Amino acid sequence: MEVKNCKDCGRLFNYLGGNMLCPECTRKLDDKFSDVKQYIYDNPQASIQQVSEEMEVSIGQLRTWVRQERLEFTEASLVGLNCEKCGAMIRSGRFCLNCKGKMTETLKSVYKPVNESSKKASDANGRMRFLDN
Ligand SMILES: [Zn+2]
Ligand SMILES: [Zn+2]
Repeated sequence: MEVKNCKDCGRLFNYLGGNMLCPECTRKLDDKFSDVKQYIYDNPQASIQQVSEEMEVSIGQLRTWVRQERLEFTEASLVGLNCEKCGAMIRSGRFCLNCKGKMTETLKSVYKPVNESSKKASDANGRMRFLDN
């Protein structure tokens, strides 16, 4: 068991992984999250800035939730969230679909030469691709 200082209130707590927050602050953050979610549900046109101001939550925190794919903004409120790679507007996560696709391709091409070095491995690779499709 590890003891750490809470990132928010500075209190010492037993760190169990995940957020650097004490149980009290985690609970508060979860309450806040429910409120924010409800607010976005009621105000689907609200921008990330507006949500931040109305709900008194930092844009950084909102982005964290979006990046964790716990929150999703509607088309109308895309302001402020961009793909980390190409800067395209995204609704959730860290990358746009385009870049996610490209990254998968890159991953495949990185592994390809290794697989092609032996015929057996290359067969296995072909089978894996087949399963992918
Ligand atoms: Zn705390
Ligand atoms: Zn992108």
